[in-house]
Amino acid sequence: MKKQIGLVGILLMMALMVLGACGQKEAPKLLEEPYYQEKFLLGTYTRIRVYDEGKEEALKPAFARIKELGDKITINQKGSEIDELNAQAGIKPVKVSKDIYYLLKEAYEYTEETDEAFNMAIGAITQLWRIGFDDARKPSQAEIDEALKHIDYRKIEFNDKDQTVFLKEKGMIVDLGAIAKGYITDEVVKVLKKEGVTSAIVDLGGNVYVLGHSPRGEKTPWNIGIQDPNKSRGSIVGSIKETNKTVVTSGIYERYLEVDGKTYHHIFNSKTGYPYDNDIAGVSIITNKSIDGDGLSTSVFAMGVKEGLEYIEDMDDGTNAIFITKEDKVYVTKGIQNNFELDKNSGYTMGNRDELK
Ligand code: ADP
Ligand code: MG
Repeated sequence: MKKQIGLVGILLMMALMVLGACGQKEAPKLLEEPYYQEKFLLGTYTRIRVYDEGKEEALKPAFARIKELGDKITINQKGSEIDELNAQAGIKPVKVSKDIYYLLKEAYEYTEETDEAFNMAIGAITQLWRIGFDDARKPSQAEIDEALKHIDYRKIEFNDKDQTVFLKEKGMIVDLGAIAKGYITDEVVKVLKKEGVTSAIVDLGGNVYVLGHSPRGEKTPWNIGIQDPNKSRGSIVGSIKETNKTVVTSGIYERYLEVDGKTYHHIFNSKTGYPYDNDIAGVSIITNKSIDGDGLSTSVFAMGVKEGLEYIEDMDDGTNAIFITKEDKVYVTKGIQNNFELDKNSGYTMGNRDELK
């Protein structure tokens, strides 16, 4: 009997040792100076920093994924999947790849949920104005009225079985510019994780994702600068501390057109065919998935700051937002009031919510 207990005891001890070894996964060694690459893709500078020692090779498949998806989604290049979908509007359904089918369905959901504040079928309007391109112009009212007839997302038909999508009316144009970068950011993070990366920063021009924690230690989050929407990329309004989160920024001064002293930016109202015009100069959304951050960063433009704050605070999944007004005031949702730190030299001040209209 004694002997038996001894045996059981030894077996138990061995089992515990094995378990212990599994549980005590060796912490990856992180670098102070990351492996870093920058490429001009998706019409912007895309940057990836990998902090895991020995994981430089992960940069390659990560950038390859950006290029692959960008080529499928763009409507500024002939032959992409979305370009083909648009070319067949009113003619026939188009089979798309699994990635793009998923993205189109997500875009459809956003369009429905936001009652077209976010509208995946806004292309007839955006292609008419072409804000951000050399040939941008203010169209005539007649042109806008005509384009408004072709932005009804309800005329987009999905067939799950065949993985086809059909724009049922000629003149319809799908534009995924408002969520493509968010989706691609999430896909890049997936690639990095698959390659064994635990600590990284992905920055696709306005879409940032911080993976894991900073190399300074397990308890040290990343310090993320919040872009100043009134200045070129690089200057910041303040910062927040996060791990495994995405920060997506959308601003009106990055791409705009000026006509007769009036500026027209690049996020459009589906009802009027003109850009939204309210107190928002820019917004940063902080959330778990970049596709959601991107979708929301566009959607809240329809709401203005007051309603936008309430909308984000009503979401109960830890999503937060930082709004910057045309009057250089900053407003943050309740969840990050103690996290957001204003940059004293930014020229911005924290706004008083009671004064919002
Ligand atoms: P960016 O990072 O380029 O600022 P945003 O996420 O702010 O991107 O999205 C802006 C882009 O979304 C526009 O350039 C256009 O392609 C598209 N877009 C404009 N208005 C809308 C809208 N109401 N709904 C969905 N997409 C829009
Ligand atoms: Mg967006």
